Amino acid sequence: MTYVVKIPLTVTESDRHRLDKRFEMARKLYNRVLGELFRRERCRKNTRLWSDIKNNAASGNKQLNNDLYKELKLRRLAMDGFSLQTEFTSGLSKTWVGYHLDSQCIQTITRHAADSFKEYLDKKRGRPKFKRHGTYNLIRSQRWKNPLTLNKNLDGVVWLGLELPLDISRLSDTRKEGAVRALEEAKKEGQLRYIGIHRSGRFFEAILTMKGDAEKRVDAEKRVIVGLDLGVRDVAVVSEDEQVKLKFCEELKNIEKNIIKYQKALSRSDRLNNPDCLDEKGAWIKGKRVTHTSNALRLKNKIAVLKRKQSQQRKHLHNYMINRIIEKASKIVTEDVSSKEWQEEFGKSINYFAPGMFLAELKNRCQQYEIELVLLNTYDYPMTQLCHCGHRQKKTLRQRVHECPECGCVMDRDIHSAAMCWAVGHDNKLVLDFEKISSKINSLFEKSISVSA
Ligand SMILES: [Zn+2]
Repeated sequence: MTYVVKIPLTVTESDRHRLDKRFEMARKLYNRVLGELFRRERCRKNTRLWSDIKNNAASGNKQLNNDLYKELKLRRLAMDGFSLQTEFTSGLSKTWVGYHLDSQCIQTITRHAADSFKEYLDKKRGRPKFKRHGTYNLIRSQRWKNPLTLNKNLDGVVWLGLELPLDISRLSDTRKEGAVRALEEAKKEGQLRYIGIHRSGRFFEAILTMKGDAEKRVDAEKRVIVGLDLGVRDVAVVSEDEQVKLKFCEELKNIEKNIIKYQKALSRSDRLNNPDCLDEKGAWIKGKRVTHTSNALRLKNKIAVLKRKQSQQRKHLHNYMINRIIEKASKIVTEDVSSKEWQEEFGKSINYFAPGMFLAELKNRCQQYEIELVLLNTYDYPMTQLCHCGHRQKKTLRQRVHECPECGCVMDRDIHSAAMCWAVGHDNKLVLDFEKISSKINSLFEKSISVSA
């Protein structure tokens, strides 16, 4: 296991200028490698060599296969990371790229492009995209001993003539402690795995990838069981200390408003300028090519920028919420809801709030901090339909309040289902024992009469 520590760097104006140059160079190199990979992919369809290799692989003739691969390398058609890495480093280290970037960096960047291309060929991801100006923002070293590294006093990063001091004072108190601890660890051989520099706008930070586990922030004894209910627009959090509903990314609304505004303007402009692409009813005819005016292109660009901004902010807000939830949790219990089901019911707003992404990130984080995450399947544990007295009744989606005809309990629907998860989580075998559950829930809500909804 590894963990990551981020520390801001103090950068002077001339340092920034040089760093920007290097990042730009890295971006060009990345695009160059990617372009080369696409070319080789096209060649692959037309080259006999590749089909020969494919046919030979089944026959199991190793010697012949090796010869064929050698031939592939000689003709500069190999697509694996290692061959590309050697090709590019030997080719570029004495050129203008090598003047700005060291050979280790060239290797990692080449590797980065080759790896993402391989994932694309294996159908694990979509087609890799060329990076636009200013969007290649992370340069990472490959090994501990290389030009990009920490200096001897461990208070700065050195890289090809640059000296960038680490600025720990800008961190918050908890992160400061973590940073000091990590730097202390870095003195030991082999504890620091990689070091990278990340750029965001005018700011630069060092990213240290450390071996081992990050220290936990809250004592084990103070940790409690947390029940969650993921909704489309909010998350209900129930534990002994608090029962609240956290809104999902409320701050994204303003950006969404602007996106819709520009999308409407774009659609208006396209309709006006492409009358022959529309049928009598005003719907787009499939397959006809729409030409965008320069104004439409400007709008399209604006929408793309806003969408990127939105996705970044959403990630940030998700992380903030997850941190708040896992801070004190020893165990998190929630329903295993598939976002696919939600998609059918709620459509577009799913993409906008992205609760599926939230759950995926929560899983990652729980694994990282060794917090037990219990996902209850909705078939055996229909928490939204059950009352803690055992009465079961289906609710429609519009019904926002839990009202039980048996015991007369009236409560916010999401808080109630999160509380049910919380109560079930106390039983290690997750048995639905309603007597225990109702006594738990009653004692919880007696203590805190005001439930914020
Ligand atoms: Zn009831």
